[in-house]
Amino acid sequence: MRVSKKVGGRRFPSKPRYSDDTLLDGLRDYARRVGGRRFTYDEFDRWEMAPFCASTVLMRFGSWRAALGMVGIESGQPKEYPAAELLEEFERVWTDAGKRPTTRTLHRLSRISVNAFRNKWGTVKRLGDLVARYRRGEISRAAVLKAAGKAKRRKEVPLGVRWRVIERDGYRCVACGRSPATERGVELHVDHVRAVARGGGNEIANLRTLCSACNMGRGTGGTGVRARAA
Ligand SMILES: [Zn+2]
Repeated sequence: MRVSKKVGGRRFPSKPRYSDDTLLDGLRDYARRVGGRRFTYDEFDRWEMAPFCASTVLMRFGSWRAALGMVGIESGQPKEYPAAELLEEFERVWTDAGKRPTTRTLHRLSRISVNAFRNKWGTVKRLGDLVARYRRGEISRAAVLKAAGKAKRRKEVPLGVRWRVIERDGYRCVACGRSPATERGVELHVDHVRAVARGGGNEIANLRTLCSACNMGRGTGGTGVRARAA
């Protein structure tokens, strides 16, 4: 247990046993073992070689999600969903929201990560266009499903590359400067500067670290804006 002393209403560790880097390295180690997928708090604690408890990570970074975000593991489900299931979820969100879902709507209401939709249809807009046409009776449901997978598949940014990007950006959002290390609930994503839909690739120069809020809020002049926080 870390010894804390209270200073001005906030607790500051007087002797942190593990540095932030040590904790993040431990998470990276485990991520490597499991192929870079998301893993749970309990699963980490079951790892016999774990150099520290998951609770240490939680106390330091505020949430498990935030800690995983710092090592480039996003909270999205790595699982691949069948197109029919994604379409049903998209329609459910449409009904719940009472309007055609945007990327932001999906982030808020979908039980399935936005990337799962993008992986099948390329962009949320493209899927929205197709579903809108289906709802107007212009195309069949089968046609919407058939269009899945035809889009240029978004190639996942490899885990190692994501780590390098987040490290290069100093573990903070390059747009607003927020970091999971200093603020609860901040989750870091690796974002394409030039969107995949516009031909952007997964090279490090085309990637940047954004918090989930900035990542969702982009869309206006999203290309090439490098509002890097000093
Ligand atoms: Zn941000």
